Amino acid sequence: MPTTLEWFGCSTYRLTIGNLTLFLDAYLDRPDTAPDVGLRASEITTCDFILVGHSHWDHLWGAETILRNTKATVIGSYETARVMIEEEGIPEDQVLPVSGGEEIRLNDEVSVQVFPSLHSCIWAPTTGGLGKMSDICVGDLGVFHQDRLELLSQRMGKREFGDIAGSAMPWDHQTPRGDGGALCYLIKTPNGNIFYKDTMGHYGSILEQISPEIALLAAAGRGNIDGEPVQGSGIDFLLKEITALNPSELVLGHYDDFAGSGRPAMEDLSPMHDALQESQSKVNLHEIEFNEKLSFFSTEEKT
Ligand SMILES: [Zn+2]
Repeated sequence: MPTTLEWFGCSTYRLTIGNLTLFLDAYLDRPDTAPDVGLRASEITTCDFILVGHSHWDHLWGAETILRNTKATVIGSYETARVMIEEEGIPEDQVLPVSGGEEIRLNDEVSVQVFPSLHSCIWAPTTGGLGKMSDICVGDLGVFHQDRLELLSQRMGKREFGDIAGSAMPWDHQTPRGDGGALCYLIKTPNGNIFYKDTMGHYGSILEQISPEIALLAAAGRGNIDGEPVQGSGIDFLLKEITALNPSELVLGHYDDFAGSGRPAMEDLSPMHDALQESQSKVNLHEIEFNEKLSFFSTEEKT
């Protein structure tokens, strides 16, 4: 069954499995200062499901346009469902809210299992804007939630984003509670399983139970492990995820200049390639350009 993957910046992908078309997140319409990904939400005419990792604008925005132009169903948190139905007027029958623990049939051969997950620690300071992936960050442990919210509100006012005038979901519209609770997804195909997560947080005990052939992971911000910020760099965090999941193939997203701030988390994946080599990991890290299509499972079809 032919399986293809395209990356459109941040954590937005188009995944086709046979004649099934999925979008993973939907953030395609970016500020003019962000690199063009070559596709607008309004140009999409074929989509069966949109899987949304969490409800922030740089993941969810665009889903409402795809849903209006196709018969797609969006799968996401209850906050994603609220924004789509109550703020965007999307019909209820195109929205499937989940919280983790569900397995959803996508067609006769493909399903997706939903797991609870965690957002990166956006309340915790990082040294380089959205977090340079090689910078070591330590401390910030044991902070009460009320104090995290206070830190977050101080930081949000200082975040640098490009001009998004005309957005249906303005940058500051959803904070500080708008992530909606993060989710991650295991897409099960006849040829192998694909794991997708769109922010740098996880529950370790959940990740250890998942063994996908392909992992799509996010690389930006301060990693969150079981609720506490990672003690180390963003790359250290990703190495923990890769060790837990043990995939054969790895695709990273979110490290680009998705908000047009001029401060990407990484210019390219060379720091990650170096770290994988140093740790003697056997995972095959793909570096995808916008408008490039990767094919998976094509050489070893299982029937
Ligand atoms: Zn987010």
